[in-house]
Amino acid sequence: MLMLSGRVVRKSDVLSDIKEPRLYSLSTNPYLPLPLRGKKAFLARDSSSVPTGFGHYFVLPTASSEGFPPDKTTGLGLEFDYFGDGDVVSLLPDGRIRSLFRANSNHNSILLTEQCNHYCLMCSQPPKRVDDSWLLTEAFEAIKMMPRETKEIGFTGGEPTIYGDDFIKLLHHTKSWLPQTSLHVLSNGRAFADEAFSKAYAQVEHPDLMVGIPIYSADASVHDYVVQSKGAFDETVRGVLNLKRYGQRVEIRVVIHKQTCEGLSELANFISRNLLFVDQVALMGLEHIGFARANIDSLWVDPIEYKDQLSEAVKILTSYGVRTAVYNHPLCLVNSDVLPVYVKSISDWKNEFAKECAPCVRKSECGGFFSSGIRNGYSQSITPFL
Ligand code: SF4
Repeated sequence: MLMLSGRVVRKSDVLSDIKEPRLYSLSTNPYLPLPLRGKKAFLARDSSSVPTGFGHYFVLPTASSEGFPPDKTTGLGLEFDYFGDGDVVSLLPDGRIRSLFRANSNHNSILLTEQCNHYCLMCSQPPKRVDDSWLLTEAFEAIKMMPRETKEIGFTGGEPTIYGDDFIKLLHHTKSWLPQTSLHVLSNGRAFADEAFSKAYAQVEHPDLMVGIPIYSADASVHDYVVQSKGAFDETVRGVLNLKRYGQRVEIRVVIHKQTCEGLSELANFISRNLLFVDQVALMGLEHIGFARANIDSLWVDPIEYKDQLSEAVKILTSYGVRTAVYNHPLCLVNSDVLPVYVKSISDWKNEFAKECAPCVRKSECGGFFSSGIRNGYSQSITPFL
């Protein structure tokens, strides 16, 4: 698992002068033309060169910091050895550092806020009631620093739409700076029940934008229970309808656990009959972090136990022509009829395999596990293909 945030091992003097996070785009090129260096930070992996003129320097333990200007040189631990050319990092005044963008990855999600109007039983990013709008400011800056050829990025939370008009401004900004980049937003969908907001979202006219919205059950009371918010189901469905009315792309996301697995077929039927026009349905395994760990007794069900319900849901959705995907499941825990829609989906930085997987000949086809699943318990039914 990659450490996306942590502490620097040696602070530069610049940290004592800053109050806000400072963002840097990294370069490993000591021959970068001089006029371009001022806006970049040089990442030193070895001691072969000490180029001048960069705005900042990050030195890994494999390089000596000798010769680098001490007032703008930060020492990093080996856990950040994965940093590379084109990455964007945020350095905080207290000496923390966060990876905001990895140029060699297609799994870049930008956290816009930890605030949310839901309190989902399995939330991986438990909501906080704090003003963290600095994350939005940071996102505006980070977008400007990302390479123009970036294939895709995601916006996540918390609930990104709580920013209202400022969220819409961020979409316009992203479209301007990264016009060829596919954009995926995770939202609980409720803000889109406001038709004016849906209209403003549509008016961004982003060429490649999709919003992923969870619906956990065809039974409104079960959905409201899972998200711990009364009235959520009605508002979310109205949000989906408004988005489609304005021609926007919508993915329905269903996290499967003890509270949702039994109703999977009914939900597949509900979507097929009432929301047939959505662009994709993702049926997803549980990630064992955040509230999911605290509520694990009411959530955990071994995927082997619901594999037939999963097959049935896939069969219903695909027979109606709904594009369907199965995410976050080990390959040996799904029936073979699911394989046409099986996706290796777990983000590279938190994707691992169990010790039982060592002899498996289909490991390269398998999505594996969340690192948190490996740490906190996983299926006892892992069966390597031999
Ligand atoms: S045993 Fe094979 S199929 Fe099962 S989880 Fe491990 S790698 Fe995947």
